[in-house]
Amino acid sequence: MRQTTKRAFVLLALLGAASAWAEGNANGDAAKSFDEAFDRALRVGLGGTPAEAVTEVQSLQALVPAGDALRLRRFEAIACGAPQEDRDAAFKRAETLLAEDEANPDRDPTTRALLHVCHATFLPQANDLRPLIAAYERAVSEARTAGDPVLLGQMLATRGSGYSIAGNHAKSLIDSLEAQKFFEGDGDPLLIAVNLQNVGTAYRRMGEFERGEEYLRKSLEEPSLQKLWVYTMLGHLQLGFLYDESGRPADARKELKQAIALCSEHNSAADCGYARIALAGAEISSNRPKAALAVVALARRDFETSGDPGDPTMLGFIEGQALARLGENTQALAKFDAAIATWTSEENARYLALVLPERATVLERLGEHERAVADLRRFIEAHAKDDRDRAAQRTDFMREQFDASRRDLENAQLRAQEELRKQEIAGLNEARRWQWVAVGLAIVLAGILAVMVVRQIRKARRLQLLAMTDPLTGLANRRRTDYRGSEAFKMARLTGTPYSVLALDIDHFKQVNDTHGHAIGDAVLARVGRECQRTLRKLDLMGRIGGEEFSGLLPETAEPAAMHVAERLRQGVEGLNFDDLSPGLKVTISIGVAQMRDSDTDFAGLLSRADAAMYRAKQGGRNRVESDDPS
Ligand code: GH3
Ligand code: MG
Ligand code: MG
Repeated sequence: MRQTTKRAFVLLALLGAASAWAEGNANGDAAKSFDEAFDRALRVGLGGTPAEAVTEVQSLQALVPAGDALRLRRFEAIACGAPQEDRDAAFKRAETLLAEDEANPDRDPTTRALLHVCHATFLPQANDLRPLIAAYERAVSEARTAGDPVLLGQMLATRGSGYSIAGNHAKSLIDSLEAQKFFEGDGDPLLIAVNLQNVGTAYRRMGEFERGEEYLRKSLEEPSLQKLWVYTMLGHLQLGFLYDESGRPADARKELKQAIALCSEHNSAADCGYARIALAGAEISSNRPKAALAVVALARRDFETSGDPGDPTMLGFIEGQALARLGENTQALAKFDAAIATWTSEENARYLALVLPERATVLERLGEHERAVADLRRFIEAHAKDDRDRAAQRTDFMREQFDASRRDLENAQLRAQEELRKQEIAGLNEARRWQWVAVGLAIVLAGILAVMVVRQIRKARRLQLLAMTDPLTGLANRRRTDYRGSEAFKMARLTGTPYSVLALDIDHFKQVNDTHGHAIGDAVLARVGRECQRTLRKLDLMGRIGGEEFSGLLPETAEPAAMHVAERLRQGVEGLNFDDLSPGLKVTISIGVAQMRDSDTDFAGLLSRADAAMYRAKQGGRNRVESDDPS
């Protein structure tokens, strides 16, 4: 029973875990589909018309995961800005959502950016564009916080269009150029191509025709843009304006006709109306007044069909131009008067600069010289203002661009400096590490060297000793004995002190070797040598100068004392016990003694006299001491 219950619990726990996992996974999937759809909406918007927007908004809403507050807010924010028929209602909703969002402690910059754009989109239309620009500026700063490159690119492009509406083409251009960076980073070719058009348009409006043409052409070459007829049409339209403004009316007409072909194909009468206004202008520039009048008529029909008010002032102005060129001065004058009245009230310096000289020409022809001159004066003012405006904008742009590139440069410099500093620190650390390694190595090396030096010194000393020492007895060898003997000879001469030498030879040593063997002979040699050295003073020196021959150097010793020393040596050796080597083995020595005389020229001479004395000791029966001085 207990076993069963336990098993049931385990099963329940497992089931619970599994369903939680499945639920989590389902939520994850739902979130993913919503995010994808949301991203698409960020890129292409939610429909081009209010009717299209309704279905798009509904399908995005269906994807909001249940209970997902954040995604619900984002949906509401993006849906807020979708095309809507009732602008007042849309504006009220934008204000409500914005107020709610500002009260929400859970701040989502993506939501906030979209709400600011929605708010700006449905702002009541007014001459004062500052609230619009302010809303766009807030949207951009929120988008910078959000960090989504597509959102930020769109917000910048939107603000850029706002600046363009406000006539600030410099700022518009700067925004569309910055947007371009984000779109290129994201890589969506359509976003890039559409924005290229914004950049091209902004350049054109500033009178930078070459740049403008370059961007507009690049935009039109993008295949993904070619699939969207509206953008293709707008591209041709912009190029048409650009060519007409830059004195290439034939090129302008070609582009504008392509634009008109597209809007006609897609039954967009309003678009065709605006395109035909542009074409009519290009016909005037081409000095084809009749063609211009025909196009104006078609444009009027387009606006009637679409219900769009169009631009009747501009149409009237173009008609006036055509009539003037056809010699219809009075009719032309009426058209110009109307246009000048409207544009004067609108303070449109740019258009006034176009119409005033035209009217002056007609007035001149009609004999109204004073009015003609007045128009020309006004033209100069308007033209100057338009020129000034454009020049100021170019300056603004260049200044801002300069500031931006200086900022970029400064940032790059700061980054480079930082990088350099890091590298330096890394280098220093590395150097420090190597320094420690080097110090360590140096210490080890110094240690090795010290050991080697000590060894070398010891070795040298040993070699030196070997060179100076007889290995068998440990006494001075022949070389050293000669050297020390000579030194002592010079010293004795210098100081006038007595100096005696002993010549020692072991008696019948050949017999020792023959009887006991060479090894015992060696041992006997060593013992005799040690005994002699032991018996002498520290100042004295005993050396082995040949097989079983020794020399004793006795500085500051006269012959009688030397005789005593020699006798002591003879007795010492005679008393040595070699029983351990060979029982009963006895050794004696014969010694010759010689004291330095004035007649001695060197140590060798002194020693040979001692030697001679030693031979006499041998001849005298061995085991005895013989003096060189026979007296
Ligand atoms: P004398 O009393 O006349 O000196 O007789 P002697 O045998 O000592 O003299 P001699 O010069 O004829 O012989 C010297 C011998 O000493 C010859 C040699 O074999 C031996 N001798 C020389 N050097 C060494 C040595 O280093 N070791 C040993 N064991 N014998 C040596
Ligand atoms: Mg000998
Ligand atoms: Mg001998």
